[in-house]
Amino acid sequence: RIIGTEALVRWRHETRGMILPTEFIPVAEQSGLIVALGGWVLRTACAQAAQWQADYPGKPPLTISVNLSPRQLAEPELLATVVGALRDSGLPSSSLCLEITEGSLIRDVESTLLTLGSLKAIGLRLALDDFGTGYSSLSYLQRLPVDIVKIDRSFVAELGQRQQERQIVAAVVELARALGLSVTAEGIETRAQLDVLREIGCDNGQGYLRSAPVPADQLDALLAQGLGTTPVPAPRGSAEEAPVSRA
Ligand code: MN
Repeated sequence: RIIGTEALVRWRHETRGMILPTEFIPVAEQSGLIVALGGWVLRTACAQAAQWQADYPGKPPLTISVNLSPRQLAEPELLATVVGALRDSGLPSSSLCLEITEGSLIRDVESTLLTLGSLKAIGLRLALDDFGTGYSSLSYLQRLPVDIVKIDRSFVAELGQRQQERQIVAAVVELARALGLSVTAEGIETRAQLDVLREIGCDNGQGYLRSAPVPADQLDALLAQGLGTTPVPAPRGSAEEAPVSRA
């Protein structure tokens, strides 16, 4: 069952064609343009999610996840930007999930914790993205006000082939459960990986097995199918979304 989507950004350049985020996000992060770009992504994603909720009503309502960069997280305007995006779109805060990485936390942990606390206070959810690739993962898990742990694709890639990865993922699921968190597996590409994740008891997953990232307007068929409802009007929006399905 589809429970939500994650907003992924692409840059369709006039002469250079499609530019992937691995190319332009680091430049935007370094130059500071990420703050404006991230604000646009957030507003676009919230508007699109509100539209999907209207077109495909489900229980619980579809969620949308938006990635936050370290620089955005350090930006004093972040809370106002998030509140504005929710207000303008009409999306309930409980339907928005903001994803952060452990890399965001290296600089100033105390002020980051304050920011995360203020975001949680407006009712949205927080996810720790790419879990297992950063530093001090375990201590952060305990201190951070996150709701969801997303297991990095590098662990998921080896599932079904290597026993060691299975044990790592199983341990993360168990740890998350002990801390009252839910677990999402990233980068599920094969049926074998999905089967192992189900056995382990992983809550949710995302990846090419469900769908490659697609433009927002191509997601309707999947949503109609995945939610068991009939689409109402035509979709709109330019952010690209990757559907998330229950593992
Ligand atoms: Mn993410």
